[in-house]
Amino acid sequence: FIKLTNIKKVFNRLDKPAVDNFNLTIQQGEIVSILGPSGCGKTTILRLIAGFEQPTVGTIEIDGKTVYDEKTFVPPEKRGVGMVFQDYALFPHLTIEKNVAFGLNKWRRGDKRRRVREVLELVDLAEYAKRYPNELSGGQQQRVALARALAPQPNVVLLDEPFSNLDASLREKMRHEITDILKKAETTAIIVTHDQKDAFAVSDRVVVMNEGVIQQVAHPRDIYTCPTNCFVAQFVGRTN
Ligand code: ATP
Repeated sequence: FIKLTNIKKVFNRLDKPAVDNFNLTIQQGEIVSILGPSGCGKTTILRLIAGFEQPTVGTIEIDGKTVYDEKTFVPPEKRGVGMVFQDYALFPHLTIEKNVAFGLNKWRRGDKRRRVREVLELVDLAEYAKRYPNELSGGQQQRVALARALAPQPNVVLLDEPFSNLDASLREKMRHEITDILKKAETTAIIVTHDQKDAFAVSDRVVVMNEGVIQQVAHPRDIYTCPTNCFVAQFVGRTN
């Protein structure tokens, strides 16, 4: 599980905190979306979990291990966190299988080959192993990025606006595919999005944020039917 306790992040002393009083526990295998308008602190939460930023105050635990508190800082590469970036960030000069193998350089050769094959099968791209990223569609590239993040068997996968580069019909399809893959892999996942349709379609629970502060944490249906305040009601009632 992932546990964030009393997290506050201040970038500039004079500004309002980017994140304030953030408390959230995510269970093993759960898919949680962080939903909110631009600038509400969503990406900051992912960066704090990944270890790219340090909280000003607070504690972060991943799988029962404290990775950040006032005396502890576990660096990103030792947190067991996989990332899928908005633009996928695939290496254009490496084949799909080499992209997927990227985080496995400490694995034994045979194990590495087996694992790459296994995750490429999971994302249904085994026959594309020898191709290059620019020979693949947007949706396929996204699946490669997910395969790469899943390959080292991370404790959690973080996805930052994973659907924003896809056109409307592909977006709809990828919501289902990504959820299926994450559920099959039994991975804990946190997805950041400003699109409530993304959040509702893919998650077990949705965290709605505004101005750095959690407004509501609930099952998608309950966010829709029982918003706790005007902000949530307006935000999820909005059509995109
Ligand atoms: P978006 O959907 O536009 O990506 P977001 O919800 O992910 O927005 P964050 O990127 O987390 O929002 O930013 C939250 C706040 O923190 C914003 O006011 C932003 O300007 C500020 N911020 C983020 N990163 C930094 C930084 N490195 N230095 C200073 N301020 C920052």
